[in-house]
Amino acid sequence: MSKWSKRTQQIHAGIRRSQYGEVAEAIYLTQGFVYDTAEQAEARFVELGEDEFIYARYGNPTVRMFEERIAALEGAEDAFATASGMAAVNGALTSVVKAGDHVVAARALFGSCLYILEDILARFGVEITLVDGTDLDQWRAALRPGTAAVFLESVSNPTLEVIDLKSVCDLAHAVGAIVIVDNVFATPVFSNAFALGADVVVYSATKHIDGQGRCLGGVVLGSRDYIRGKLEPYLKHTGGALSPFNAWVMLKGLETMDLRVRAQADSALKLATALEGHPKLSRVIYPGLKAHPQHDLAMAQTGSGGTVLSLEVTGGQAGAFRFLNALEIVTISNNLGDAKSIITHPATTTHQRLPQDQKDLLGIAPGLVRLSVGLEDADDLLTDITSALKMI
Ligand SMILES: *Cc1c(COP(=O)(O)O)cnc(C)c1O
Repeated sequence: MSKWSKRTQQIHAGIRRSQYGEVAEAIYLTQGFVYDTAEQAEARFVELGEDEFIYARYGNPTVRMFEERIAALEGAEDAFATASGMAAVNGALTSVVKAGDHVVAARALFGSCLYILEDILARFGVEITLVDGTDLDQWRAALRPGTAAVFLESVSNPTLEVIDLKSVCDLAHAVGAIVIVDNVFATPVFSNAFALGADVVVYSATKHIDGQGRCLGGVVLGSRDYIRGKLEPYLKHTGGALSPFNAWVMLKGLETMDLRVRAQADSALKLATALEGHPKLSRVIYPGLKAHPQHDLAMAQTGSGGTVLSLEVTGGQAGAFRFLNALEIVTISNNLGDAKSIITHPATTTHQRLPQDQKDLLGIAPGLVRLSVGLEDADDLLTDITSALKMI
Protein backbone atom coordinates (compact mmCIF):
# COMPACT_ATOMS: atom_id res chain seq x y z
CA MET A 1 0.00 0.00 0.00
CA SER A 2 2.88 2.35 0.66
CA LYS A 3 3.02 3.85 -2.83
CA TRP A 4 -0.35 5.48 -2.11
CA SER A 5 -0.92 8.69 -0.20
CA LYS A 6 -2.35 8.87 3.33
CA ARG A 7 -5.74 9.95 1.93
CA THR A 8 -5.93 6.70 -0.02
CA GLN A 9 -4.50 4.50 2.69
CA GLN A 10 -6.97 5.75 5.31
CA ILE A 11 -9.72 4.16 3.15
CA HIS A 12 -8.04 0.93 2.09
CA ALA A 13 -5.06 -0.04 4.25
CA GLY A 14 -5.37 -3.17 6.36
CA ILE A 15 -8.68 -4.44 4.96
CA ARG A 16 -9.25 -8.19 5.43
CA ARG A 17 -12.20 -9.49 3.47
CA SER A 18 -14.05 -12.64 4.41
CA GLN A 19 -15.23 -15.28 1.93
CA TYR A 20 -18.33 -13.09 1.33
CA GLY A 21 -16.36 -10.25 -0.20
CA GLU A 22 -18.08 -7.53 1.83
CA VAL A 23 -17.26 -3.91 0.81
CA ALA A 24 -17.30 -2.36 4.28
CA GLU A 25 -15.07 -3.82 6.96
CA ALA A 26 -16.73 -6.68 8.84
CA ILE A 27 -17.21 -6.61 12.59
CA TYR A 28 -15.87 -9.88 13.94
CA LEU A 29 -17.66 -9.64 17.25
CA THR A 30 -16.15 -12.78 18.71
CA GLN A 31 -13.80 -13.30 21.61
CA GLY A 32 -12.67 -16.77 20.55
CA PHE A 33 -11.73 -18.73 17.40
CA VAL A 34 -12.31 -22.41 16.60
CA TYR A 35 -9.66 -24.88 15.47
CA ASP A 36 -10.23 -27.69 12.97
CA THR A 37 -8.16 -30.07 15.04
CA ALA A 38 -6.37 -30.30 18.35
CA GLU A 39 -3.11 -30.28 16.40
CA GLN A 40 -4.06 -26.95 14.80
CA ALA A 41 -4.83 -25.45 18.22
CA GLU A 42 -1.46 -26.64 19.51
CA ALA A 43 0.31 -25.17 16.47
CA ARG A 44 -1.34 -21.76 16.92
CA PHE A 45 -0.27 -21.56 20.54
CA VAL A 46 3.30 -22.25 19.39
CA GLU A 47 3.27 -19.62 16.63
CA LEU A 48 0.54 -17.47 15.12
CA GLY A 49 0.37 -17.04 11.36
CA GLU A 50 -0.68 -13.79 9.62
CA ASP A 51 -4.37 -14.63 9.48
CA GLU A 52 -4.61 -16.66 12.67
CA PHE A 53 -6.12 -15.62 15.98
CA ILE A 54 -6.68 -17.41 19.26
CA TYR A 55 -8.39 -15.00 21.65
CA ALA A 56 -9.58 -11.41 21.30
CA ARG A 57 -7.47 -10.20 24.21
CA TYR A 58 -4.47 -11.16 22.03
CA GLY A 59 -5.91 -10.04 18.70
CA ASN A 60 -9.06 -10.02 16.56
CA PRO A 61 -9.50 -9.53 12.77
CA THR A 62 -11.45 -6.24 13.07
CA VAL A 63 -8.96 -4.90 15.60
CA ARG A 64 -6.11 -6.05 13.36
CA MET A 65 -7.60 -4.11 10.42
CA PHE A 66 -7.60 -0.97 12.55
CA GLU A 67 -4.02 -1.59 13.72
CA GLU A 68 -2.76 -2.12 10.17
CA ARG A 69 -4.58 0.93 8.82
CA ILE A 70 -3.32 3.33 11.48
CA ALA A 71 0.21 1.86 11.22
CA ALA A 72 0.16 2.51 7.46
CA LEU A 73 -0.97 6.10 8.01
CA GLU A 74 1.64 6.81 10.66
CA GLY A 75 4.42 5.05 8.76
CA ALA A 76 5.01 2.59 11.63
CA GLU A 77 6.07 -1.04 11.27
CA ASP A 78 3.34 -2.22 13.61
CA ALA A 79 0.64 -1.16 16.07
CA PHE A 80 -1.33 -2.55 19.00
CA ALA A 81 -4.81 -1.21 19.71
CA THR A 82 -6.06 -0.67 23.25
CA ALA A 83 -9.32 -0.11 25.11
CA SER A 84 -8.58 3.60 25.67
CA GLY A 85 -5.88 6.18 25.23
CA MET A 86 -4.81 5.64 28.82
CA ALA A 87 -4.41 1.87 28.31
CA ALA A 88 -2.11 2.81 25.41
CA VAL A 89 -0.05 5.27 27.49
CA ASN A 90 0.15 2.81 30.40
CA GLY A 91 1.19 -0.05 28.12
CA ALA A 92 3.73 2.01 26.21
CA LEU A 93 5.47 3.10 29.42
CA THR A 94 5.01 0.16 31.77
CA SER A 95 6.15 -2.42 29.21
CA VAL A 96 9.61 -0.82 29.03
CA VAL A 97 10.51 0.28 32.56
CA LYS A 98 11.45 -1.57 35.74
CA ALA A 99 12.28 -0.66 39.33
CA GLY A 100 15.35 1.57 39.53
CA ASP A 101 14.88 3.03 36.04
CA HIS A 102 14.81 6.75 35.36
CA VAL A 103 12.15 8.43 33.18
CA VAL A 104 12.14 12.06 32.06
CA ALA A 105 8.82 13.63 31.06
CA ALA A 106 7.54 17.03 29.99
CA ARG A 107 5.57 18.55 32.87
CA ALA A 108 2.59 19.77 30.80
CA LEU A 109 0.77 16.42 30.63
CA PHE A 110 -2.78 15.12 30.51
CA GLY A 111 -3.74 14.49 34.16
CA SER A 112 -3.98 10.70 33.87
CA CYS A 113 -0.55 10.52 32.19
CA LEU A 114 0.88 12.42 35.14
CA TYR A 115 -0.86 9.95 37.49
CA ILE A 116 0.77 6.96 35.74
CA LEU A 117 4.19 8.55 36.08
CA GLU A 118 4.04 10.16 39.51
CA ASP A 119 1.68 7.82 41.35
CA ILE A 120 1.96 4.38 39.72
CA LEU A 121 5.45 4.09 38.25
CA ALA A 122 6.98 6.01 41.17
CA ARG A 123 5.32 3.50 43.54
CA PHE A 124 7.12 0.68 41.72
CA GLY A 125 10.50 2.37 42.16
CA VAL A 126 10.80 4.24 38.87
CA GLU A 127 12.44 7.65 39.29
CA ILE A 128 10.60 10.44 37.48
CA THR A 129 12.04 13.82 36.50
CA LEU A 130 9.62 16.43 35.13
CA VAL A 131 10.91 19.23 32.93
CA ASP A 132 9.56 22.22 31.05
CA GLY A 133 9.22 20.50 27.67
CA THR A 134 9.96 23.65 25.68
CA ASP A 135 13.31 24.23 27.42
CA LEU A 136 16.04 22.08 25.84
CA ASP A 137 18.47 22.98 28.65
CA GLN A 138 16.12 21.31 31.14
CA TRP A 139 16.00 18.16 29.00
CA ARG A 140 19.80 18.20 28.76
CA ALA A 141 20.15 18.58 32.53
CA ALA A 142 17.60 15.85 33.34
CA LEU A 143 18.72 13.14 30.91
CA ARG A 144 21.56 10.93 32.06
CA PRO A 145 23.28 7.78 30.85
CA GLY A 146 20.86 4.96 31.58
CA THR A 147 17.68 7.08 31.44
CA ALA A 148 15.26 4.42 30.21
CA ALA A 149 12.50 6.47 28.63
CA VAL A 150 11.30 9.93 27.71
CA PHE A 151 7.60 10.72 27.66
CA LEU A 152 5.99 13.85 26.26
CA GLU A 153 2.94 15.33 24.60
CA SER A 154 4.14 16.84 21.33
CA VAL A 155 1.60 19.66 21.79
CA SER A 156 0.53 20.17 25.37
CA ASN A 157 -2.94 20.34 26.84
CA PRO A 158 -4.41 22.91 27.44
CA THR A 159 -1.77 25.60 26.84
CA LEU A 160 -0.66 24.26 23.43
CA GLU A 161 3.07 24.42 23.97
CA VAL A 162 4.93 22.75 21.13
CA ILE A 163 7.91 20.53 21.91
CA ASP A 164 10.91 20.41 19.57
CA LEU A 165 10.65 16.68 18.85
CA LYS A 166 13.80 16.31 16.77
CA SER A 167 16.02 18.00 19.38
CA VAL A 168 14.49 16.10 22.32
CA CYS A 169 14.79 12.77 20.44
CA ASP A 170 18.46 13.49 19.62
CA LEU A 171 19.21 14.30 23.27
CA ALA A 172 17.33 11.22 24.51
CA HIS A 173 18.92 8.87 22.00
CA ALA A 174 22.39 10.14 22.95
CA VAL A 175 21.85 8.60 26.42
CA GLY A 176 20.06 5.51 25.10
CA ALA A 177 16.51 6.46 26.15
CA ILE A 178 13.43 5.37 24.21
CA VAL A 179 11.15 8.31 23.24
CA ILE A 180 7.40 7.82 23.69
CA VAL A 181 5.22 10.58 22.21
CA ASP A 182 1.57 11.16 23.14
CA ASN A 183 0.56 12.69 19.82
CA VAL A 184 -3.16 13.39 20.30
CA PHE A 185 -3.03 17.14 19.65
CA ALA A 186 -0.81 16.73 16.55
CA THR A 187 -3.32 14.15 15.18
CA PRO A 188 -2.33 11.32 12.79
CA VAL A 189 -3.16 13.66 9.89
CA PHE A 190 -0.40 16.16 10.69
CA SER A 191 1.96 13.81 12.55
CA ASN A 192 5.57 13.59 11.50
CA ALA A 193 6.72 12.07 14.77
CA PHE A 194 8.60 9.01 13.48
CA ALA A 195 10.48 11.08 10.88
CA LEU A 196 11.53 13.45 13.68
CA GLY A 197 12.94 10.55 15.75
CA ALA A 198 10.15 9.25 17.98
CA ASP A 199 10.46 5.54 18.84
CA VAL A 200 6.87 5.06 19.98
CA VAL A 201 3.75 7.09 19.16
CA VAL A 202 0.56 6.86 21.20
CA TYR A 203 -2.93 8.07 20.33
CA SER A 204 -6.17 8.26 22.21
CA ALA A 205 -8.40 7.10 19.32
CA THR A 206 -11.30 8.52 21.35
CA LYS A 207 -10.35 11.94 19.93
CA HIS A 208 -9.83 12.66 16.22
CA ILE A 209 -9.76 9.03 15.06
CA ASP A 210 -13.34 8.34 16.14
CA GLY A 211 -14.02 12.04 15.70
CA GLN A 212 -17.69 11.76 16.50
CA GLY A 213 -17.64 11.17 20.23
CA ARG A 214 -18.81 7.54 20.29
CA CYS A 215 -16.15 5.14 21.52
CA LEU A 216 -13.10 4.95 23.72
CA GLY A 217 -9.99 3.54 22.12
CA GLY A 218 -6.25 3.89 21.87
CA VAL A 219 -3.29 2.70 19.89
CA VAL A 220 0.48 2.33 20.33
CA LEU A 221 2.68 2.45 17.24
CA GLY A 222 6.35 1.52 16.86
CA SER A 223 8.86 -0.95 15.47
CA ARG A 224 7.81 -4.59 15.12
CA ASP A 225 10.39 -5.54 17.77
CA TYR A 226 8.90 -3.10 20.28
CA ILE A 227 5.23 -3.81 19.52
CA ARG A 228 5.46 -7.62 19.35
CA GLY A 229 8.45 -8.08 21.70
CA LYS A 230 7.63 -5.68 24.56
CA LEU A 231 4.16 -4.18 24.27
CA GLU A 232 2.05 -7.14 23.10
CA PRO A 233 3.20 -9.53 25.89
CA TYR A 234 2.40 -6.81 28.46
CA LEU A 235 -0.99 -5.88 27.03
CA LYS A 236 -2.24 -9.32 26.13
CA HIS A 237 -1.61 -10.56 29.65
CA THR A 238 -2.88 -7.45 31.46
CA GLY A 239 -6.04 -7.10 29.37
CA GLY A 240 -6.21 -3.67 27.78
CA ALA A 241 -7.57 -4.97 24.45
CA LEU A 242 -9.79 -2.84 22.19
CA SER A 243 -13.28 -4.23 21.59
CA PRO A 244 -13.93 -5.36 17.98
CA PHE A 245 -16.99 -3.11 17.80
CA ASN A 246 -14.99 -0.06 18.89
CA ALA A 247 -12.24 -1.03 16.42
CA TRP A 248 -14.83 -1.01 13.65
CA VAL A 249 -16.01 2.48 14.67
CA MET A 250 -12.38 3.63 14.62
CA LEU A 251 -11.82 2.06 11.17
CA LYS A 252 -14.79 3.97 9.79
CA GLY A 253 -13.53 7.08 11.59
CA LEU A 254 -10.17 6.78 9.87
CA GLU A 255 -11.86 6.85 6.45
CA THR A 256 -12.98 10.46 6.98
CA MET A 257 -10.25 11.60 9.36
CA ASP A 258 -8.21 13.59 6.86
CA LEU A 259 -11.22 15.57 5.62
CA ARG A 260 -12.53 16.20 9.11
CA VAL A 261 -9.27 17.17 10.77
CA ARG A 262 -8.20 19.52 7.97
CA ALA A 263 -11.59 21.24 8.00
CA GLN A 264 -11.46 21.55 11.81
CA ALA A 265 -7.90 22.96 11.66
CA ASP A 266 -8.94 25.48 8.96
CA SER A 267 -11.81 26.66 11.17
CA ALA A 268 -9.53 26.80 14.23
CA LEU A 269 -7.13 29.09 12.36
CA LYS A 270 -9.99 31.24 11.14
CA LEU A 271 -11.39 31.60 14.67
CA ALA A 272 -7.99 32.24 16.28
CA THR A 273 -7.20 34.92 13.68
CA ALA A 274 -10.59 36.61 14.08
CA LEU A 275 -10.45 36.52 17.89
CA GLU A 276 -6.86 37.79 18.28
CA GLY A 277 -6.94 41.20 19.97
CA HIS A 278 -10.60 40.90 21.07
CA PRO A 279 -11.10 43.24 24.07
CA LYS A 280 -12.64 40.45 26.22
CA LEU A 281 -9.66 38.14 25.61
CA SER A 282 -6.31 38.60 27.30
CA ARG A 283 -4.77 35.69 25.36
CA VAL A 284 -5.53 33.71 22.23
CA ILE A 285 -3.30 30.63 22.18
CA TYR A 286 -3.05 28.80 18.86
CA PRO A 287 0.17 27.40 17.34
CA GLY A 288 -1.03 28.47 13.88
CA LEU A 289 -0.86 32.16 14.87
CA LYS A 290 2.40 34.02 14.19
CA ALA A 291 2.20 35.40 17.75
CA HIS A 292 2.49 31.87 19.25
CA PRO A 293 6.00 31.52 20.76
CA GLN A 294 6.62 28.25 18.87
CA HIS A 295 4.78 29.13 15.67
CA ASP A 296 7.75 28.42 13.38
CA LEU A 297 8.49 25.12 15.13
CA ALA A 298 4.83 24.05 14.92
CA MET A 299 4.69 24.81 11.21
CA ALA A 300 7.98 22.98 10.54
CA GLN A 301 6.92 19.94 12.60
CA THR A 302 3.33 19.44 11.52
CA GLY A 303 2.45 22.20 9.04
CA SER A 304 -0.71 23.06 10.99
CA GLY A 305 -1.80 24.74 14.21
CA GLY A 306 -4.18 21.83 14.88
CA THR A 307 -7.85 21.69 15.82
CA VAL A 308 -7.71 23.12 19.35
CA LEU A 309 -7.27 26.69 20.59
CA SER A 310 -7.19 28.10 24.07
CA LEU A 311 -8.57 31.48 25.10
CA GLU A 312 -8.04 33.45 28.26
CA VAL A 313 -11.07 35.59 28.93
CA THR A 314 -11.07 38.70 31.10
CA GLY A 315 -12.80 38.46 34.47
CA GLY A 316 -11.18 35.21 35.63
CA GLN A 317 -13.30 32.14 36.48
CA ALA A 318 -16.54 34.16 36.73
CA GLY A 319 -15.89 35.60 33.27
CA ALA A 320 -15.08 32.14 31.87
CA PHE A 321 -18.29 30.63 33.34
CA ARG A 322 -20.46 33.46 31.97
CA PHE A 323 -18.87 32.95 28.55
CA LEU A 324 -19.37 29.16 28.57
CA ASN A 325 -22.96 29.42 29.79
CA ALA A 326 -23.85 31.90 27.04
CA LEU A 327 -22.66 29.71 24.14
CA GLU A 328 -25.42 28.27 21.95
CA ILE A 329 -23.63 25.97 19.49
CA VAL A 330 -20.40 25.18 21.29
CA THR A 331 -21.12 22.54 23.93
CA ILE A 332 -19.56 22.35 27.38
CA SER A 333 -17.79 19.01 27.63
CA ASN A 334 -14.27 17.69 28.04
CA ASN A 335 -13.64 15.57 24.94
CA LEU A 336 -11.80 16.97 21.94
CA GLY A 337 -11.39 16.21 18.24
CA ASP A 338 -15.16 15.77 17.89
CA ALA A 339 -17.35 16.95 14.98
CA LYS A 340 -19.14 19.03 17.60
CA SER A 341 -17.26 22.05 18.91
CA ILE A 342 -16.52 21.51 22.59
CA ILE A 343 -15.34 23.93 25.25
CA THR A 344 -13.91 23.18 28.65
CA HIS A 345 -12.68 25.16 31.66
CA PRO A 346 -9.50 23.24 32.60
CA ALA A 347 -8.92 24.85 36.02
CA THR A 348 -12.20 23.45 37.39
CA THR A 349 -12.48 20.21 35.37
CA THR A 350 -9.65 18.35 33.60
CA HIS A 351 -6.93 20.00 35.71
CA GLN A 352 -8.94 20.52 38.92
CA ARG A 353 -6.79 18.01 40.81
CA LEU A 354 -3.59 20.01 40.32
CA PRO A 355 -2.39 22.17 43.23
CA GLN A 356 -2.43 25.93 42.56
CA ASP A 357 1.36 26.22 42.14
CA GLN A 358 1.24 23.54 39.39
CA LYS A 359 -1.63 25.33 37.67
CA ASP A 360 0.39 28.57 37.79
CA LEU A 361 3.46 26.80 36.42
CA LEU A 362 1.43 25.36 33.53
CA GLY A 363 -0.38 28.62 32.77
CA ILE A 364 -3.80 27.21 33.68
CA ALA A 365 -5.29 30.57 34.67
CA PRO A 366 -8.83 30.98 36.09
CA GLY A 367 -9.94 32.64 32.82
CA LEU A 368 -8.48 29.97 30.52
CA VAL A 369 -10.84 27.92 28.35
CA ARG A 370 -9.95 25.22 25.80
CA LEU A 371 -11.93 25.11 22.59
CA SER A 372 -11.91 22.00 20.40
CA VAL A 373 -13.14 23.23 17.02
CA GLY A 374 -15.66 20.98 15.29
CA LEU A 375 -17.18 20.75 11.84
CA GLU A 376 -19.89 23.41 12.16
CA ASP A 377 -19.83 26.44 9.86
CA ALA A 378 -16.88 28.57 11.02
CA ASP A 379 -18.84 31.83 10.66
CA ASP A 380 -21.60 30.42 12.88
CA LEU A 381 -19.00 29.45 15.46
CA LEU A 382 -17.49 32.94 15.36
CA THR A 383 -20.93 34.51 15.81
CA ASP A 384 -21.66 32.19 18.74
CA ILE A 385 -18.30 32.95 20.41
CA THR A 386 -18.38 36.73 19.91
CA SER A 387 -22.00 36.93 21.13
CA ALA A 388 -21.13 34.92 24.25
CA LEU A 389 -18.04 37.08 24.92
CA LYS A 390 -20.38 40.07 25.24
CA MET A 391 -21.88 38.40 28.32
CA ILE A 392 -18.61 38.66 30.27
C1 LIG B 1 -7.70 12.04 25.93
C2 LIG B 1 -6.24 11.95 26.08
C3 LIG B 1 -5.64 10.82 26.64
C4 LIG B 1 -6.46 9.67 27.21
O1 LIG B 1 -7.25 9.06 26.27
P1 LIG B 1 -8.58 8.20 26.68
O2 LIG B 1 -9.01 7.63 25.38
O3 LIG B 1 -9.53 9.18 27.27
O4 LIG B 1 -8.15 7.19 27.65
C5 LIG B 1 -4.27 10.79 26.74
N1 LIG B 1 -3.51 11.81 26.28
C6 LIG B 1 -4.06 12.92 25.72
C7 LIG B 1 -3.17 14.00 25.23
C8 LIG B 1 -5.43 13.02 25.60
O5 LIG B 1 -5.97 14.12 25.05
